[in-house]
Amino acid sequence: MKFKARLYESLDDKKVKCHVCANECIIMPEKVGICRTRKNFDGKLYTLIYGSMISSGSLDPIEKKPLYNFWPGATAYSIASIGCSFKCQNCQNWSISQANPTDNGKNGFYDLEGYKNRGMSLVEMTPEQLEKRVVKSGAKTLAYTYNEPLIWHEWIMDTVPLLKQHEIKTLLVTNGYSTPEASKELIEVGIDAANIDIKAMSDDFYKKICGVKSVQPVLDTAKRFKDNDIHVEVTNLIIPELNDSREDIKKLCEWIVKNLGKNTPLHFSAYHPDFRMPSKKRTPYETLDMAYKIAKDVGLFFPYVGNIRHDDGSNTYCPNCGYLLLGRSGYMFTKIDVNENNTCPNCGYNLLNDIIGEINKKP
Ligand code: SF4
Ligand code: SF4
Repeated sequence: MKFKARLYESLDDKKVKCHVCANECIIMPEKVGICRTRKNFDGKLYTLIYGSMISSGSLDPIEKKPLYNFWPGATAYSIASIGCSFKCQNCQNWSISQANPTDNGKNGFYDLEGYKNRGMSLVEMTPEQLEKRVVKSGAKTLAYTYNEPLIWHEWIMDTVPLLKQHEIKTLLVTNGYSTPEASKELIEVGIDAANIDIKAMSDDFYKKICGVKSVQPVLDTAKRFKDNDIHVEVTNLIIPELNDSREDIKKLCEWIVKNLGKNTPLHFSAYHPDFRMPSKKRTPYETLDMAYKIAKDVGLFFPYVGNIRHDDGSNTYCPNCGYLLLGRSGYMFTKIDVNENNTCPNCGYNLLNDIIGEINKKP
């Protein structure tokens, strides 16, 4: 749905500059930005995906986002649109992230080859219609996920306040490529939690694999969110031969300890070849186990391992005594043992800053 954009400036000759993400595209009249979802109509910028979703929403465990230390066991009403500010060669959701929306009001979208995407159309909603659906679903949280939510800025800004009235927590699953202006608005509107993908610590990786200039805006967003009381968890997809060295992993862990704090959950995720396959190999267990151990050695309290079976990597342990608080198999709990007042039953350690919100004991 076409809707007037926020956060842009008008330049000479009806050009506009978009400040919603760190690409900061300068867009000529009748052209779109890198994300393909924001278009300059005669010197005014519009989003083409306001209220446009690939489905009316699905219910996921919050652990699937992944968020392990925020409302554990909660259901996340998950919504997505199309487009992304990146062009990751390994994108698992490329059919939506790299799609082109139409701007003719027909609500279709096209894949990379220019075909109407598998006959799919976008589902259109108003903020109030989404609010009603989420409330009716009984979900305690809503996740903007699957494609890149930061480019859905106007929709997020209009829907979060409605959900807040029902105490529904709002989550971003994001590449973190924000600007100070856009982050400020997201903080002010009251986003509750974010899983931020820090794909690597090098600009070279971001240039070659993701098609953007630098990792720095991602790091800045993570820090800005954390400093403003948004619960932050980090995901790092480990791709063989691209970001899997001991030094790469240590650098990321040390940056998190220094800038976000030891209690920031870090999810190492196993890669499998997808889209343009920047590596043909899957991530071996040994690499993920090495990453898990490095994170522990560096002092992170909550390293996790996903997309592969790892004995300890799904569980939440007490940072003080190592007691198993939350055991998981896939997205299901195998054990929940945290005192009602959010302390460790073994040593009494206060977990209030480490596990946020209620634990849903009947997921
Ligand atoms: S959201 Fe980002 S990629 Fe899209 S037009 Fe704006 S600056 Fe460009
Ligand atoms: S940032 Fe995420 S959604 Fe966007 S292209 Fe990369 S992997 Fe895909």
